Amino acid sequence: MLNIVLFGAPGAGKGTQADKLVEKYDLVHLSTGDMLRSEVARQSARSAAIKQLIDKGQLVPDSMVAEMVAEKIGEHRHSNGIIFDGFPRTIPQAEMLDAMLAEQGLHVCGMVALNAPEDELVRRLLERGKYSGRDDDRDDDVVRRRIAVYHEKTAPLMDYYKAQAKYLPVVGVGGIDEIFANLCAAIKHCKP
Ligand code: ADP
Repeated sequence: MLNIVLFGAPGAGKGTQADKLVEKYDLVHLSTGDMLRSEVARQSARSAAIKQLIDKGQLVPDSMVAEMVAEKIGEHRHSNGIIFDGFPRTIPQAEMLDAMLAEQGLHVCGMVALNAPEDELVRRLLERGKYSGRDDDRDDDVVRRRIAVYHEKTAPLMDYYKAQAKYLPVVGVGGIDEIFANLCAAIKHCKP
């Protein structure tokens, strides 16, 4: 299975590129952001708590996200592979992912990291906020908070995957197809 962690700050273009990767490599797209937003829409018992955290630009607890991910991995363990988009976002989440995959005899094949400068990230998120319908994309303070949370909690994952020789940096600036080509070149170095 080709299991890829698609990494990057909010606004780095993970969702757009994930759609293209899914099509090219016939993979399953696992986006914890999408899963959380659909849980909010379903109005479950914990919807209000999840929405409050998302709208403040904070992370949802690791255990809650891990549970959703474990279920989805189980459902798709016989697929060609999974693209993890927006997960893992903390070191404990990365450790849980390794454990969950190992349980099924699987592993992360590589972390492809989309890099883009911060002013570009903020610009893209606020632009997206005009039509995405996402409250967390509309407010400048929330957008900056999400990027700060990324630096504090998520960026350390680069070292986590570097230590496993799975970190594959990709230039995330340019046209969508150009960035996609950069990603595909990096994926050649993934270890299925
Ligand atoms: P973006 O990459 O643009 O921030 P996402 O859709 O990945 O968008 O995430 C939106 C929000 O959902 C995050 O700010 C966070 O509140 C929550 N979220 C998504 N994935 C996770 C995760 N793996 N762990 C904790 N919270 C998450």
